[in-house]
Amino acid sequence: MALIEAKALRKSYGPIQAVRGVSFSVNRGEVIGFLGPNGAGKSTTMKLLTGHLQPDSGSARIADFDVVQNPIEAKSQLGYSPEGAPAYGEMTVREFLSFVAQLRGLSNPSASVQDTLTLCRLTEVASQTIDTLSKGYRMRLGFAQAVIHDPSVLILDEPTDGLDPNQKFEVRRILKEMAARKAVIVSTHILEEIEELCTRIIIIARGEVRCDEPKEVFLQRGQDLNKVFRELTA
Ligand code: ADP
Repeated sequence: MALIEAKALRKSYGPIQAVRGVSFSVNRGEVIGFLGPNGAGKSTTMKLLTGHLQPDSGSARIADFDVVQNPIEAKSQLGYSPEGAPAYGEMTVREFLSFVAQLRGLSNPSASVQDTLTLCRLTEVASQTIDTLSKGYRMRLGFAQAVIHDPSVLILDEPTDGLDPNQKFEVRRILKEMAARKAVIVSTHILEEIEELCTRIIIIARGEVRCDEPKEVFLQRGQDLNKVFRELTA
């Protein structure tokens, strides 16, 4: 059984066809590098997969639950970090994670919060309000709220955007630690991230899949990944 399945997804915003028939499936142990130029439809596809948007047609399944028909079951298996890792600025890091743990109905919320603070190296800022966090910590908190319930599916929209090299390394390290047990989709603009993190590449442009292949095959397309990317998305 695929843990993530997109079937002929379509979504328009008024006259803009953002996603035009996107299909793919993702199994446990796969980390998908989801690439495409700005405006290609990556965020919209992710929101369709997480049930934050309803498709005009097509369907999305998480752990075999349709995200529109069975949203609660689907979302219980899913961790999602939207672009920019939004959170409630006036809460402290610990309060926010406790809030998420309660919403998730976890059996031992305080233990889950503690484990997640440790895993995501957030302990030293646990009592700080989110508004006062640096971007690196903020992004890690976005990641932390997505993994606190140890979901089998992770969907992360640009989780390393705007981070410095050390912070990027740290997010990738955490992700690699847990990836074998999960199905993961990571959207990124950083082509080096593919080599380090991903097992498979999906490139979309103008709302359509232009390339879906194992990382090894993709890397054989050429030395200059930026050029390969330009040719596939032109
Ligand atoms: P990406 O994540 O690849 O940058 P998006 O999915 O955000 O792409 O956007 C795909 C297209 O849909 C773009 O043309 C974008 O301008 C448009 N779009 C995205 N969100 C909205 C919205 N809420 N209203 C209108 N147009 C939107």
